[in-house]
Parts: sequence; structure tokens; C-alpha cells
Amino acid sequence: MKILKFKNFVFFKNDDGRRKYLKQPPKIYKKETHGISLEKIDHHAFLIVKKLQDKGFQAYIVGGSVRDLLTGRNPKDFDIVTNARPHTIKALFHRANIIGRRFRIVHIMFGKKIFETATFRSIPNREIDEELLITRDNTYGSESEDSARRDFTINALFYNPVTEEIIDYVNGYRDIKKKLISIIGRPEVSYCEDPVRMIRAVKYKAITGFDMEKSAYKEISKLAKNITSCSPARLLEEIFKIMRSGVSLEIFHSLVQTRLLKYMMPEVYKKLYPHSQKIHRFESSPLGRRLKVMDELIDRGRKISNVVFLGILFYDLVREEVENSTHHDKGYISNIYLTKASQRLKFSKKAKDQLVKVLIMQSRFLKYNLTKKKSPAIDKLVMRDYFKDGLDFFEIFCRIEKKWSDQLLFWKDIYKNNKNKIFDKRNKRINIKKLRSTYKKKKS
Ligand code: ATP
Ligand code: MG
Repeated sequence: MKILKFKNFVFFKNDDGRRKYLKQPPKIYKKETHGISLEKIDHHAFLIVKKLQDKGFQAYIVGGSVRDLLTGRNPKDFDIVTNARPHTIKALFHRANIIGRRFRIVHIMFGKKIFETATFRSIPNREIDEELLITRDNTYGSESEDSARRDFTINALFYNPVTEEIIDYVNGYRDIKKKLISIIGRPEVSYCEDPVRMIRAVKYKAITGFDMEKSAYKEISKLAKNITSCSPARLLEEIFKIMRSGVSLEIFHSLVQTRLLKYMMPEVYKKLYPHSQKIHRFESSPLGRRLKVMDELIDRGRKISNVVFLGILFYDLVREEVENSTHHDKGYISNIYLTKASQRLKFSKKAKDQLVKVLIMQSRFLKYNLTKKKSPAIDKLVMRDYFKDGLDFFEIFCRIEKKWSDQLLFWKDIYKNNKNKIFDKRNKRINIKKLRSTYKKKKS
């Protein structure tokens, strides 16, 4: 009996549910079937793939952009994958940098656009007594392995823009047609290997409107606590992506339901649900209302900064404390109440300082006498580098409360009239920074 158990254990750990994808040849979908038009492919992404292929390498467009093209969305960027190694890729392109600690990838630049170009990676190949959590995944692999090491089948399709074929090792094409999010491998293994995948699962479910296997969704609640083992930088990156998605209300609702939020941002969760047993409607909570208004603005094409995102998330941590405090320096008080949350997610000191300023300036928007369109105080405030963030944040409040529309219009006008001056100042700052860094480089 014991031997059987041990055998099961060995089998269990080694079979992470991915190996089956390596045994079968890929399904190939021609243009007549998938219908992706070459016009939708970024010209430079095409050139990168073409150049790599001309040099004898395999190269494809991969991941989110292929998923987006097949689901009728416009990809925001194009990631590329190849069997060429980072140094070879770098040598082939004029402006290319090798980056990354977890995995070395190459950033190829054309103008302001950056194309992430990665070398095929292998699937985790662990010894039976090893932890599931992947801390380093830097082994190169084959094309099929690279597909099988990805998170969801819908994210693991390769598109060859030269032949206009989709190469599918994991039945991702079928899942897109079935509107289904399937995890590659067994959910409990995949989530333990990289808990960020749990956040990504709820994110894609909301963004695509696809279904997800019930067992895979349930597994998230069971393993939610594992999210604490992820690096703060990766968590923050996913949080910002969610906030930019335009469906952040729905995603945060799922983060609450699955208890992920409780472990990602315990301070925020505690403010939402101080009496932990009872989870009332998230949409009508203060955070839910802010997210809803923010989604509406993003839907209309508004660009919102990360500092404003942080404000939306963390406002409840400081609101009461600042309002109730008799201390003259509200910034000082805000800083104190934001310390724990900011340390947990390790956002930069600069972001935290900007955030405090944005929060504190809210009351100033209401204080001004609206008949006076010009004053030294206004001139000074409008030239602050956090003015636009403060104003975006103020707009969210005005929309929630459905009041202060005069104040909002007044300040928006001020911003519009000073836009050129503000941009000039910003450009000057950027130029000085550039000059400084070239000077430093030359010196060293
Ligand atoms: P979006 O950028 O819109 O969130 P995306 O699919 O492009 O979606 P990225 O984070 O840019 O997501 O990642 C690119 C690709 O890398 C994904 O499509 C997926 O194939 C793979 N990937 C990203 N994160 C993971 C992960 N945690 N585990 C496994 N594969 C991942
Ligand atoms: Mg992407």
C-alpha cells in the first residue's frame, strides 16, 4: 500500500499535465480557416519575424496578440518567439537590448515601439522532491515545449505571418472557438508553480467573457494564499494591467470572490470588509464605485496614470484618518497610513510621494473661489507635475458623487489653457534628464 502511494506521488508530481502536448504534432490552421488579415499585423513585428526566418531560425508572433486577433480585438503589442538565442537576436537588430532576470529576453525597438522577443523555453523539469514554485525558469526548449509551458491554451498559439498559418500544440484554437479558458496542465500544479496565473485567470475570464472550467476556478479560492509568494513587482504589474483593461470592476469582484484580493492587498480588503465573514455587494463599495467610473473613462479612451490607479485602490486607507486627524500636515498622516501597503507592493518612493500629493490636493480643488480664473496660487498649482493626476482623481469623485461639476469644469479649463506651458516644462525636465544620463555615460 505504501509503495503504491509513493508511486502515485512520483507519478503525480512528474505528470503536471503538460507532457501530453509534447507527444502530438501541432494542428495547423491556414488563413482560410482562421481569417486573420495581414493588415492587422504590425509591420515591424512582421519584419522581425521575417528577418529571423531568413537567417534560418524559427520565429513566430505569439501569445496575447494572437488571442486578441482571433477574438476580434486590436492587440496592444506583439510578442515574438524564436529558437535564436538572446545574443544572436541582439546582434541581428540595430536597436536591441537584452533584459530580464527571471528569463533573458530581447527588447527590439523601432521608434517608440518595443517588441519583446523571447527564446523558446522548456517546461519545468523538476526532481520529485523539489518545490512546485518556479523561482528560475531559464532553460531553453523546443517549439512545442515553449507552447506547453505557457499559462492558458488561448495564450499559447503561434502565428507565422510569413506563411499566414497558426500553429497550435495545445488546442488553443478550439478553445477560442468554444469560448473557453483552459489551463495548460493541471490547475493545482500550474497555480503553485506561478501563483500570478490565478490573477491572470480571473483577468482573462472578464476580458474575454469566456467560461472557465469550474474546477479550475474553484482551485483559485483554495490556493489564493499562495499569491503572497509572488514578487511585488509582478503583482503590481498585473494590478496596473487590470486597471487599464476597462473591465477592472468585474476583475476586482472576482479577486474578492476568490479571496485573492485578501492576500494581495490585505489592508484594502480589510477596509472593504472589516467584519470578515460578511461580503456585501462589491459594486456598491467605495472601491467598486471608483473602479466603475474609472472603467467608463478608460472605455472612452482616457489615459490614466499609475499614480491615479494607486489612489483609486488606496484612498480608503487614508480618507478617515486624514479627515479625523487634527495634525496640520495631512501629507504626513497619509504617508503613515500608506506605509504598510506601499511596502507590501514595493511601489517606489516617488510613486508614494506623488500619491500622497494627489490625495491631499483634492480638498484644494474645492476650496478655490471659482470667479477668480487667475491667481499666483492657481499658476503654482497647475504647474505641479502631479496636477493632471490630481485632476483625474478629482473627476472620478465628481462623477461618483454627481456633484461639483462647476469645480470640475473650472479646473479642466485651467488645465486646457495651460497645457502648452505644462508640456514645455515637462519636456525641459526630460531633456535635462537625458543630458545628465549621456554626460554620466560619457564620464564612465
Ligand atoms: P496582456 O498583455 O493583454 O495581459 P498577454 O497574453 O500578452 O496579455 P503578457 O503578460 O504580455 O500577456 O504575456 C505574454 C505571453 O506570455 C502570454 O500570452 C502567455 O503565453 C505567456 N505568459 C505570461 N505570463 C505567464 C505566466 N505567468 N505563466 C505562463 N505563461 C505566461
Ligand atoms: Mg502582452
